[in-house]
Amino acid sequence: MNIHEYQGKQLLKGYGLPVAEGVAILKPGEAEAAAKALPGPLYVVKSQIHAGGRGKGKFKELAPDAKGGVRLAKSVADVVTNVGEMLGNTLVTKQTGPAGKQVNRLYIEDGADIARELYLSLLVDRSVGKIAFVVSTEGGMDIEAVAHDTPEKIITLAIDPEAGVTAEDVKKINAAYGLDGDAAKDGETVFPALYKAFVEKDMSLLEVNPLIVMKNGRLRVLDAKVSFDNNALFRHPEVVELRDTTEEDEKEIEASKYDLAYVALDGNIGCMVNGAGLAMATMDIIKLYGAEPANFLDVGGGASKEKVTAAFKIITKDPAVKGILINIFGGIMKCDIIAEGVIAAVKEVGLKVPLVVRLEGTNAELGKKIINESGLNVTSADDLDDAAKKIVAAVDNA
Ligand code: GDP
Ligand code: MG
Repeated sequence: MNIHEYQGKQLLKGYGLPVAEGVAILKPGEAEAAAKALPGPLYVVKSQIHAGGRGKGKFKELAPDAKGGVRLAKSVADVVTNVGEMLGNTLVTKQTGPAGKQVNRLYIEDGADIARELYLSLLVDRSVGKIAFVVSTEGGMDIEAVAHDTPEKIITLAIDPEAGVTAEDVKKINAAYGLDGDAAKDGETVFPALYKAFVEKDMSLLEVNPLIVMKNGRLRVLDAKVSFDNNALFRHPEVVELRDTTEEDEKEIEASKYDLAYVALDGNIGCMVNGAGLAMATMDIIKLYGAEPANFLDVGGGASKEKVTAAFKIITKDPAVKGILINIFGGIMKCDIIAEGVIAAVKEVGLKVPLVVRLEGTNAELGKKIINESGLNVTSADDLDDAAKKIVAAVDNA
């Protein structure tokens, strides 16, 4: 789950991290009061969408040379003008895709005088099984480009979970950034506090790009991108409250209600599979036969008929789906339950695209019988390979 920058900063402020004062607004009429509540004379008007690259982004509705999604303003009036231009428009950035995202919320912030922009992120480094700091002096820009062009400028420092962020670690990070004086002193509290927030809130990513050194020599968190581990959300109701479903894929929201592991993709073959590994293999084999999956969907080990019905509905609701492949290996999951769920769903929502079903394992024969006797236009497949070939051919011929 992702949250907005202003929410991330509020959360980090609770850990004592240095962030600017700011006010989030939803309506143009709120701009003047928001700006007046800040010290000035420099303000920043920041689009709140769940995507990065806002500064360099472009508003669809505005002229191509208009300013981007993060703007500096030099007076209250200037803030009001910018808010009027930005709010409600669609921002296209490197991370939004060509469709862009509607900016429904702006964050008006006290502007900082920047001396240096640094890159910092915390993530789970699976290669060492630890949380790691990713540190670079090349902040404020596209870190993927830095990783590609000058990988030596990115340093990774894994943290020992027993010891946490040690004085030694802080020294290494300060040295990597070339910080001294007040900035290095700030580092002693900033780096451990970021790590503490990451661990306590079960984050999966905390990206501060940029972390800045201000002209007064102090550090400040200027941007914050925070993602949480969905599997740990149950222990953080305060985090769940920050969820903004308008930023999420409608189908993914529906799937989460039924506890289905669903990820929307760009292809046209809808997949319903049990088990994450088998779901990955199913997507691979669809690609092998030259087509693209429309989604990843793991209905789980012990799915009920209701869950299967919900999953089928989510797949068929996607207008991009031109064919459906159901691939079930019945272990705990019984194939007849899947078959009943599919039939119930088809009866409810109809079936306008070809459907190929491969059932194997517990109660496979019974499942096949239920489907064959349903009178539905379903193609049975013998194995995964056969199933993939059949659905790709059916979509090609449609
Ligand atoms: P992003 O483009 O989505 O990553 O948004 P950021 O919050 O990182 O802002 C983009 C850029 O705007 C930063 O890299 C800074 O160069 C600039 N910027 C943001 N806030 C301030 C500020 O308070 N003062 C100044 N001078 N520049 C800022
Ligand atoms: Mg940024």
